[in-house]
Order: sequence, then C-alpha cells, then structure tokens
Amino acid sequence: MKNEKAKEDWKKELTPAQFNVCREKGTERAFTGEYYNSKEPGVYRCVCCGNDLFSSETKYDSGTGWPSFWAPLSKERVKMEVDQTFGMRRVEVLCGACDAHLGHLFEDGPAPTGQRYCINSVSLKHEKKEPDGPKSNDRCPPFPKSNL
Ligand SMILES: [Zn+2]
Repeated sequence: MKNEKAKEDWKKELTPAQFNVCREKGTERAFTGEYYNSKEPGVYRCVCCGNDLFSSETKYDSGTGWPSFWAPLSKERVKMEVDQTFGMRRVEVLCGACDAHLGHLFEDGPAPTGQRYCINSVSLKHEKKEPDGPKSNDRCPPFPKSNL
C-alpha cells in the first residue's frame, strides 16, 4: 500500500501554488515558472516527495513556457493517466511515488523519443548534482581480486 497523505496534510506542507498544481491538477501560467528556461545541470525532483523525476540532460527548450523533457529518468519514476477534462483527451503525468500531478505528455517532442513531458515548474525541485558523484579519497587496491 502506498502512503497516501490526506489532502489536508499536503495543504500544510506545500505552498498554495504547489498545492494547486500537484494536488488539484492546476497549471501554472506559461513563462512564469522557475525552471522553464533553466539549463542548470542536475536532477528535477518531485516537490512533494523528493522522487527523482527528470534529468537536465533530457530537458529542452520547447518554447511553450513550461519545462519540457523528452524522457523521464526512468519509466517507473512517473505514471500516466488519461485526462479528459476540458473536453480534451490528454495524458496526465503523475509522480510515480506520491501521485502528484506534474503536467501532461504530448507526442510532439524531439528525437529520440518524440515525446514532450510538459511539466509545471512548481511541481519540481531542481537539485544540482555533482558531475562525478561524491569525491572519495579511497584508493583502488593495487591488484584486482581474482575471480578464481
Ligand atoms: Zn512525488
């Protein structure tokens, strides 16, 4: 079973804008979000639960005014649901861990996937990542252990 928080709990933890998008499936206004134009390397996490969702490596400038990605970090990180509100049939993108509404998926993205994950900045939290992982002073052993 998933740990499902009550709406009231989310309301306490999130800003009103975050709550509106993530828990009430709102959409931030185009060109107003924090990340639509960002090219900072790193990962984008779910603002609700910290689940790693997207990498800056798949982020591209779609010109729509929302952060756009052509792939999630992995298929399991996000989930899709058919959204029929406003008389349109769209695919909704949700956080795979906590069901936060993230945005929508369109089929007009660039190669190699041809997909466009159109995501609200407010549902994301960018985190800079060390390019080569944590620094370590551990030296490698001079000889690899034999497999025999
Ligand atoms: Zn989440």
